[in-house]
Amino acid sequence: MDKQEYRKKLDELGSRKDLIPGIHNYCDRWCERCPFTSKCGNYVLTEGLESNQEDVDLNNEKFWKDLSMIFEATFDMIREHAEELGIDLDNIDEEDCKLEVKNVEIEEHAREYGLNMINWLKGNSEKLNETAQKLLLVDENIALKFKNALEVVQWYSLFISAKVHRSMLDFGDVPDEYEDYDQKGSAKIAIIAIDRSIAALGLILEKMPDFEDDLLRFLAQLAKIKRDILKVYPTAMEFRRPGFDDC
Ligand code: SF4
Repeated sequence: MDKQEYRKKLDELGSRKDLIPGIHNYCDRWCERCPFTSKCGNYVLTEGLESNQEDVDLNNEKFWKDLSMIFEATFDMIREHAEELGIDLDNIDEEDCKLEVKNVEIEEHAREYGLNMINWLKGNSEKLNETAQKLLLVDENIALKFKNALEVVQWYSLFISAKVHRSMLDFGDVPDEYEDYDQKGSAKIAIIAIDRSIAALGLILEKMPDFEDDLLRFLAQLAKIKRDILKVYPTAMEFRRPGFDDC
């Protein structure tokens, strides 16, 4: 797909009534496991590109060319919309773009959890694989649950930190209404990711009691992050995520 075709696809998406607006803003970005791929503009837009990349890795030249083309086509579109609104993107005061972070401490805890978890998974990969193999000999279903739990923990490890970060950003001049909406949505998906990670870690703990100290520490970290998010956004779980909470 070239830049023109991609741009055409972008324009077509805008008129499709079957897509749920904004669904991808408060999802967990786990498209492989998402029940709304056919209703998600973000997925429809990138699906063709991804399938072209099945057998290439991140270092593939085509991957970076596609990304660069997507950036250009998207930026062209943004520039056109900005012009319509009388905004000159070439002359933006940098001070206007600075975002403050509301609660640095929660962010730091979330980042620390994510990095520690990635390191833990990496450092114990041999033992984790060994456990999965042993479980496979006993019961295929249990082995699958264990494997899924590892995937869940891995998927959400850094995702939580990214969403906590977004939920804590102070958007400056953006109207309070929108800021509050976006922050609650981000806080809610962060909490959902935390709850799922807690469940997955519980399952891993059950199968790997030798790692109790590490796993309990992770569970405590997650519980604290969740508690702190809810202190800032007590009504976060009332937020209705487009699509996901409309069933
Ligand atoms: S809504 Fe589903 S398909 Fe769309 S980006 Fe999120 S996880 Fe992927």
